[in-house]
Amino acid sequence: MLRRIGLAVGLCLGLVMGFTTSASAAEKLLALIVDGQNNHGIWPKTTQMMKKYLEETGLFTVDVATTAPKGTDANFAPEFSKYAVVISNYNGAAWPAETQKKFADYVKNGGGFVVVHAADNAFPEWTEYNEMIGLGGWGGRNEKSGPYVYITEDGMIIRDEAAGAGGHHGAQHEFTVRTRDNFHPITRGLPREWLHVKDELYDKLRGPGANMQILATAFADPKHGGTGRHEPMLMAVKFGKGRVFHTALGHGDYSQECVGFITTLQRGAEWAATGKVTQDVPKDFPTADALSQRKFTE
Ligand code: ZN
Repeated sequence: MLRRIGLAVGLCLGLVMGFTTSASAAEKLLALIVDGQNNHGIWPKTTQMMKKYLEETGLFTVDVATTAPKGTDANFAPEFSKYAVVISNYNGAAWPAETQKKFADYVKNGGGFVVVHAADNAFPEWTEYNEMIGLGGWGGRNEKSGPYVYITEDGMIIRDEAAGAGGHHGAQHEFTVRTRDNFHPITRGLPREWLHVKDELYDKLRGPGANMQILATAFADPKHGGTGRHEPMLMAVKFGKGRVFHTALGHGDYSQECVGFITTLQRGAEWAATGKVTQDVPKDFPTADALSQRKFTE
């Protein structure tokens, strides 16, 4: 009798384990990177970098959808609704109206979205896009786009309605990113401060900033041409039933080699797709005093 129970339990375990293994391979999250136009000429490479970063988690299968190189691409119509998360490496002409509507509906209905660096420069005229990303810059953004949003040393959120252009950065440099939210799944377990590989430190971003949590900031030091404010670097936004992760980091291929960039992209994409993060903080995550860079190879 006992032996029989033991055998039954063993069989069950085997079945469960077998099922789990094959299911996880079959049930990877489908991700889509959109690109094709960007004032950052390195975009074909950064798309490949982000594709690899997402796939090496073992969680994602990644497709890429690329627009025509110039102007509104009348044929650009990805089937957004089949993806768990869309990642934008796109900063270019407006998409066809029908594609924009489908994308907004996709996020509103629970789709995940990740906006990376200059992708927050795109679509200044598209109201729903600006609600999704929370904050944006350039493209004629000004006080009509929403307040400047930044944080004081103590963590108080300032929404500054002053007139002026949205989007600015000083000279590229290595800078400290400060975790402002230790409870959010994306930033849980990250050090309070970590050193980021040379990058542009976006400041003066402005936008509606509604339903937005600021997860991490960086001090835009006036000695590098910055505002002297703690500027939002990582943000989580709710848009309808959808989750949006916004990283202002990632100007250069070198910036995207930062383990801080990689880890928050991987975790941010998982959170946007599922609402949870199952990935641990890697052992080579940067610290307050030490950079950590993984040289990218194809
Ligand atoms: Zn840039």
